[in-house]
Amino acid sequence: MNELELMIDFYRRLPRQGPGSSEQTLKALQITGLANSGYVEIADIGCGTGAQTFTLADQVKGRITAVDLFHEFLEELSIRADRHGLQDRITTRCESMDKLSFDPRTFDLIWSEGAIYIMGFEAGVRSWRPFISRDGFLVVSEISWFTKRRPQELEDYWQLEYQEIDTIENKELILRRNGYTKIVSFRIPEYCWFENYYDPIRAGIPEFLDRHGNSKHAIRLTKELEREMEIYEKFKYYYGYAFYIAQKSKK
Ligand code: SAH
Repeated sequence: MNELELMIDFYRRLPRQGPGSSEQTLKALQITGLANSGYVEIADIGCGTGAQTFTLADQVKGRITAVDLFHEFLEELSIRADRHGLQDRITTRCESMDKLSFDPRTFDLIWSEGAIYIMGFEAGVRSWRPFISRDGFLVVSEISWFTKRRPQELEDYWQLEYQEIDTIENKELILRRNGYTKIVSFRIPEYCWFENYYDPIRAGIPEFLDRHGNSKHAIRLTKELEREMEIYEKFKYYYGYAFYIAQKSKK
């Protein structure tokens, strides 16, 4: 298996592919006012195996289009959708978030947890806006600085990983200058990283290495994960995920 295939093999078995929780998904959804409203069309971009997709489906009337670049994740999601009798309400679409092929104003809500960084926050909020209906919403979770100053070691790490990491204040400014209004944000708590994401990663590593005969690439992937977890453990005071809830402005 090449590195990408190994990554998919590792992540598809996890309960979620990024930090988060159903409580935090619900908290963000409540802010939009769309839970308990009428029929809504939702896109869930970078859905992975669907951790947040099912929480949304549970709380909202309407349809969800779950989008991911990798069919392996979408297959897991579809199996779960069938199992829960949700196959009529959740459809999957295998395409890249930077080349979405939907009609303009298709969605009342575009949702994306832990994924917009892949194309970059600003490019994402700008290019997804046309797909949002009049007065519709964008909800994303994004890696963000929690403090104005940070230790050099941490700055160096994120300089390599994702240069667009920024303060919550600056992320809100980016939303505003790209045609969004009524912006609300909140940080997600630590258990979303430890209990919900890193603990399952730690638990999955021995079996993963075994499955791949301790191959060089498999070891490298686990070393990278261990480094990421170490950085979070050491510097969680300075950064984490925040949710951003924004409404499309008239412009
Ligand atoms: N929302 C999920 C997954 C987040 S991980 C959760 O929070 O658990 C990021 C997801 O983005 C992965 O599922 C990955 O396969 C997907 N992804 C990566 N590149 C992509 C692209 N170019 N377009 C769409 N999805 C992509």
